[in-house]
Amino acid sequence: MKIPKVNFRSLFDQCLLCQQSYKGLDQKPSGICAGCLDDLPILTQKCSHCSLPLSTSNDLICGECSTKPPSYDHVDSFFLYRFPIDHLIGQVKYSQKVQYIGLIASLMHHFSNIPPSVEALIPIPMYRLNQFKRGFNQAELIARGLSRHTHIPVDTQLLTKLHASHPQMGLSRLERLKNQKGSFACTPSEYDHVMLIDDVMTTGATLETVSQVLKQNGVARVSALTLARTER
Ligand SMILES: [Zn+2]
Ligand SMILES: [Zn+2]
Repeated sequence: MKIPKVNFRSLFDQCLLCQQSYKGLDQKPSGICAGCLDDLPILTQKCSHCSLPLSTSNDLICGECSTKPPSYDHVDSFFLYRFPIDHLIGQVKYSQKVQYIGLIASLMHHFSNIPPSVEALIPIPMYRLNQFKRGFNQAELIARGLSRHTHIPVDTQLLTKLHASHPQMGLSRLERLKNQKGSFACTPSEYDHVMLIDDVMTTGATLETVSQVLKQNGVARVSALTLARTER
């Protein structure tokens, strides 16, 4: 697969969101100025298991996780799927602006606390034909960007998307789960703990399906990181 080149140099002189230049060589995360960083819709009140946005900080676990715990062990999402995060993701996916990947990976690294037990970053795979049409899988590019920061290897061989799912927009969580059933395959695995990587988590149906498949194939612990989380 041909992976588009990401221009990391451009991250050091200009904020990718407001285009103003800043002295950012030591800035963390790189690619964004302090003003824009402050304006990002950071997800502060969330379920400690699935990162669902919560209205109060007292509910540490959302209703769904407490009644029917998901297969994955933990998901961390950092932003609400709102401007400019939705715009960033859209620019990558639909306008091929892969230069934003460096910023996305840098933000995820800045806000995440990946446990040392994680042995591999596993991007949520796309169906081969869809990936061919787009030219890349954004989850894989994000995982490779994160790997540059963390030195945790990326594994794109473990999981395969077997066929395209029907469009998920407007479907309930249950319908999405049905839609995803049987769409991922996994080779038998020796990993004890892996971290799934995706751009945005909606109902969690994809992460649930993939985690089930990973656990059926020997992975003991499945965590996940997504840049953003929708409010359902
Ligand atoms: Zn800025
Ligand atoms: Zn939850």
